[in-house]
Amino acid sequence: MLDQLALEGGTPVRSVPLPYGRHWISEEDIAAVVDTLRSDWLTTGPQVTELEKAFASAVGVSHAVAVSSGTAALHVAISAIGIQSGDEVIVPTMTFAASANCVAYRAGIPVFADVDSKTLLLTPAEAEKHITSRTRAILAVDYAGAPCDYVGLRALARKYDLVLLADGCHSLGGATRAGAVGSLADLTAFSLHPVKSITAGEGGIITTKDPDLARKMRIFRNHGMTTDFREREQTGQWQSQMVELGFNYRITDLQCALALSQLRRLPEFLARRRIIAQHYDTAFANISWLSPLSIPEDVEHAYHLYVVRLHLDQWKVSRDQVLRALRAEGIGANVHYWPVHLHPYYQQTYSAAKYPVAESAANEILSLPIFPKMLDTDIKDVLLALEKVFRHLGCHC
Ligand SMILES: *Cc1c(COP(=O)(O)O)cnc(C)c1O
Repeated sequence: MLDQLALEGGTPVRSVPLPYGRHWISEEDIAAVVDTLRSDWLTTGPQVTELEKAFASAVGVSHAVAVSSGTAALHVAISAIGIQSGDEVIVPTMTFAASANCVAYRAGIPVFADVDSKTLLLTPAEAEKHITSRTRAILAVDYAGAPCDYVGLRALARKYDLVLLADGCHSLGGATRAGAVGSLADLTAFSLHPVKSITAGEGGIITTKDPDLARKMRIFRNHGMTTDFREREQTGQWQSQMVELGFNYRITDLQCALALSQLRRLPEFLARRRIIAQHYDTAFANISWLSPLSIPEDVEHAYHLYVVRLHLDQWKVSRDQVLRALRAEGIGANVHYWPVHLHPYYQQTYSAAKYPVAESAANEILSLPIFPKMLDTDIKDVLLALEKVFRHLGCHC
């Protein structure tokens, strides 16, 4: 039947499903990887150094350390600042689990904080509520790609003598008046996973202005050894010494060649993400059944995600049913995130904790498709599918 929901046997809006996020690999990207395959280095070679230099300069700091994933980047950052057993790190609960796991890897205690109801970001006021004598750091998350209030967070960190860390996995290319994401905290971790701003297949990178932290991170990513293979070759030193318990978090030259090529395309990627977001903003300006998240003033958003909140009083069904209906229409909507403290692993410790803002948002949010290669016709499909689903599942009173 015409206009029946795909969920109920109707024709879907799209026959080829649209994902919520996707990489975009160009011929230049491919050529860069192939060149590296023909070179002398497959891992830890010149492409790693080149990527680190280009990345540091792109965000306006002096040091960047490339590693094997965003999760490794967070672990390396937490280790470089010496988090150890019993140390507390404040982490917003509205994030990907890795933001908290990195603290737990060190036997530290992730202390969850609730988020602002309009932006779903950690605020200085929320963070301050959780500071104790054991707090060592605040790990802010630029949820969806909107930079947090780093001026406020920095002042708070200074007041209590804490380290300020940023999980910038969503916000590469974002900025505030104070500068680019990557230069706003003591350490910022980024991911190079295919759905993120730029990709290396898998990969991560940490930026800092502090040479001492950069040196510590290079040791930690390489088994805790003081020199890597190339440095040994340069200095003629044959022996490497393990000075601490590190990991093999090295990233390959192949991956860095890809990331370097992608980094050149970042401005183009960001511009496209912002245009798609504008299309959505315009389409949603005058409807009552959902609204986009608020954006903090004076920030440049990187739009890793485009998150809307369903106004459930205008719907006959739950967010999960709306999500299911959209997916049946071929629209790869998603939920970012189920709050970390609600995952079974963290419930063992946090079953009594309540974070009302994140918990209620968790049942209302939807991430709509947004990625640089998305076409205008794809945007239209998302809007058509949303209207169709609302026609069937919304209240019309
Ligand atoms: C993607 C992501 C990570 C982890 O990055 P990986 O490269 O997948 O390990 C960490 N934090 C946030 C907020 C992320 O979105």
